[in-house]
Amino acid sequence: MSATPGRSNVDHLIVGAGFAGLAAAIKLDEAAERDFVVIEKDSDVGGTWHINTYPGAECDVPSQLYSYSFALNPEWSKVYSPQQEIWEYTRKVAEDSGTLDRFVFDTAVVDARWDEDEQRWIVRTEGPDGPKEYAARTVISGSGGLSEPRLPEIEGIDSFQGEIFHSARWDHDVDLAGKRVAVIGTGASAIQLVPELQKVVGHMDVYQRTPNWVIPRNERSFTGFEKAVFKNVPGAQRALRSLVYGTLEARVPAFARFPRAMRAVELQGKRNIAKGISDPELRKKVTPAYRAGCKRILISNKWYPALDADNVDLVTDPIQKITGDAIVTADGVERPIDVLVVATGFYVTEPPIAQHITGRGGRTLADVWDEGGMAAYKGTTIHGFPNLFQVVGPNTALGHSSMIFIIESQVRYVVEAAKAMRAEGLAVVEPTQAAQDAWTAGIRRKMKPTVWQTGGCASWYLDKFGNNTTLWPGQTFTFRQHLRSFDIDKYDVQPVQPPKSTQSPTSQEKVSS
Ligand code: NAP
Repeated sequence: MSATPGRSNVDHLIVGAGFAGLAAAIKLDEAAERDFVVIEKDSDVGGTWHINTYPGAECDVPSQLYSYSFALNPEWSKVYSPQQEIWEYTRKVAEDSGTLDRFVFDTAVVDARWDEDEQRWIVRTEGPDGPKEYAARTVISGSGGLSEPRLPEIEGIDSFQGEIFHSARWDHDVDLAGKRVAVIGTGASAIQLVPELQKVVGHMDVYQRTPNWVIPRNERSFTGFEKAVFKNVPGAQRALRSLVYGTLEARVPAFARFPRAMRAVELQGKRNIAKGISDPELRKKVTPAYRAGCKRILISNKWYPALDADNVDLVTDPIQKITGDAIVTADGVERPIDVLVVATGFYVTEPPIAQHITGRGGRTLADVWDEGGMAAYKGTTIHGFPNLFQVVGPNTALGHSSMIFIIESQVRYVVEAAKAMRAEGLAVVEPTQAAQDAWTAGIRRKMKPTVWQTGGCASWYLDKFGNNTTLWPGQTFTFRQHLRSFDIDKYDVQPVQPPKSTQSPTSQEKVSS
């Protein structure tokens, strides 16, 4: 193709330097696909583990599994790792990989547009040096499913005069000591930060809309001996990792096919409540009325004792409005505050980045998904969006195990696709509508008996049509099996053409595998 002034040509443009983008960079590099750039809006690698710095931020997936299979870490301090340690791990993996020279930080992708003539994605970015443009053969989006904070739409929230911030954008300059603080939300982030805040604030109101099932957590630190074994005994850490993996996978049938088995979890949750809370009224308020697993099962030993503390009130009356200095609930009670923390989650089923990706025919990913919900072939590629690969795409998230397993599965598929394109001389690969529809129909079928659809709750797993377009409805090894090779027979492809070709996109040439 002819060079356009001010535009950089790259083979692959990776969006995001979290676990997904970093894995894509490392694995493309290993596959000798070295002409790539990673665009990251944050100032460093790590994604969610660099951005989420709220007090008490930790992973709720065991450390042994929450790492890349190709970069085990014998130094994990605890069974569940703290945020800082996970971020340091990603930083070290990035440094060791030798790929950091192709990472561009503090730079956001503002627009990605498929150019039919060029057979490339034209990607505009905005960074400290101003706007920049790339022409990329492929775009690999690792922008994260839980990256865009969702602020609650509550009357008057904009009029609040005190400090206000989202859990994922913690303002460390705000001193909470002795302050009157409100936390809205009782999800995975809130249950970690509330116990830490409880120790320092004067008074805290925690606003709960729906209680979650919260079961005990194994808080143990690894001993020096264990770490030495992980480091020095060949296979020891991998064996433990396999054990953890198998234990978590054994839970899948209860989520996916036999939700009644979740009663065992509910029993654990009720015991956790009884242990952590003495007040019978409060116990009642925090006990969910839906099947465990319908929303993400949370783990904490500190959440219930924090709610039971003298300086904390759990408020379950719906919030009516927020004033300049208080929250008013539907029963008319006004509770004055100095600081408001919103721990209300993220845009998951309508990811904002989809508005900035324009495929064939000038349609954005948001347009397409708005019509029928998020969908992608094998959670990764999307009809109408050639050469776009979504890592952590639709129906790839997990409620029971480590996302890094899924990420590695998808990255392998992407690398296989890149290799196939090079070997076959292909400029364009795009999943057929039929392949994507069949995949989505299979997911919907499997989703029907799951606890996420039948458990009697509203959750962010479900979209506006009531479909679960978020989670993978099975064991992770079946997902990996599906993505073990690039199935080119499910794709419309186009060979590399001379520039400014007038060939119609619909007259695609089918390459037999
Ligand atoms: P979340 O689980 O979606 O929780 C959001 C909370 O805010 C819920 O309690 C929700 O109530 C409440 N809420 C939302 N809008 C509200 C409104 N307008 N008024 C009152 N309450 C409102 O979000 P999150 O806690 O940030 O966690 C999101 C996900 O991030 C987790 O599920 C997990 O996948 C991930 N995460 C993981 C870890 C980890 O340790 N690995 C830690 C933190 C987060 P409803 O339940 O009624 O909607």
